[in-house]
Amino acid sequence: MDKVRLGKTGLMVSRISFGGLPIQSVDRESAVAVVRYAFEKGINFFDTARVYTTSEVDLGRALAGLGEKVIVATKSYQRNLEQLKKDFATSFENLKRDYIDLFQFHIVNYEKELKEIIKKGGPLDYLKQEQQKGRLRHIGITSHRPALMLEALKTGHFETVQIPFNYIERESLDQLIPLARSLDIGIIVMKPVAGGVFTSNRAAIRWILQYPDLVPIPGMCRIEEVDDNLPALGGPLTAAELAGLEADRLDLGSMFCRRCDYCMPCPNKIEASYILRSGMIFKRTGWDKLSLDHINAFKKGLTCMQCGICAARCPYNLPLSEMVIDESLALLREAVVLGKLSAEEFETLLKTVKNRSNSRSKD
Ligand code: SF4
Ligand code: SF4
Repeated sequence: MDKVRLGKTGLMVSRISFGGLPIQSVDRESAVAVVRYAFEKGINFFDTARVYTTSEVDLGRALAGLGEKVIVATKSYQRNLEQLKKDFATSFENLKRDYIDLFQFHIVNYEKELKEIIKKGGPLDYLKQEQQKGRLRHIGITSHRPALMLEALKTGHFETVQIPFNYIERESLDQLIPLARSLDIGIIVMKPVAGGVFTSNRAAIRWILQYPDLVPIPGMCRIEEVDDNLPALGGPLTAAELAGLEADRLDLGSMFCRRCDYCMPCPNKIEASYILRSGMIFKRTGWDKLSLDHINAFKKGLTCMQCGICAARCPYNLPLSEMVIDESLALLREAVVLGKLSAEEFETLLKTVKNRSNSRSKD
């Protein structure tokens, strides 16, 4: 597979690389198998994170002994020095390498976090010490906020930046990507398929490949996904693929869930992202798959107390309380149309939601 120079790190990484978040959702042997399969198919750059539960350990097992043939990146949410030290030590142990190729500060979305990281004697200085010891090669940063990343990159401390970028989310094209290029900072693209909202993942990846220096890391946890994504390398985006992406964009609007799950957990055990993505999934895979378990999850969505906790965590500023209730109602309406929920029960549920909202507005 063609390789791309990852900015000033000088690392030569595969044109399509590997996002290690989803392997935590399959069994351990399957996770190891898919990573090895990706390597056999030419992928040499693997990205994971401390918070992706089993992902680091599985990558470590799958890539053990491959040395410089692979490049492994991980990341930590910690802004506190002692916690970051612990995370680095755990990642080092999990990945089973002589060194970590790239350690990134994970999802830095606020200025105060950035300040905490780069303050004298803080987490960044600690990572620089690890670099001097040879246990770490490069330091990067990830974020959902392009404006903040402009500030971060100007500090000169980071060699890579990882950002969401796809056919729908292109804000970074205006300033951040040009700045990163001018500073020779490697650009890693998270969410290249926007959490799977496109009809064709392959078209979504091919759209990103038109930018020769951007490195998409689609998440993959099944061998079929590797086989589905890699043919994106086979040629430029076709007019039909572009039309498909545009149709998806118009269909989704701007208020859609990217399935990042940063909003979780809900104190009321509501699966917000699951509810928000269900309509799109059923539309594509067939409403006949709607089961009693789905219906129960949507009924649970109606019990949302509008506490705002999930909305405060959502990096896309989605008005989640309203969206969860509206979407749950829309899905339950579909269940009525399909004859999987009685109209009477739906009316009762609707009345309960209205009563709760009336009493809330009187408070
Ligand atoms: S607003 Fe609703 S869905 Fe969100 S955390 Fe609160 S109860 Fe859960
Ligand atoms: S609602 Fe927001 S935080 Fe939650 S999964 Fe969707 S995009 Fe992510």
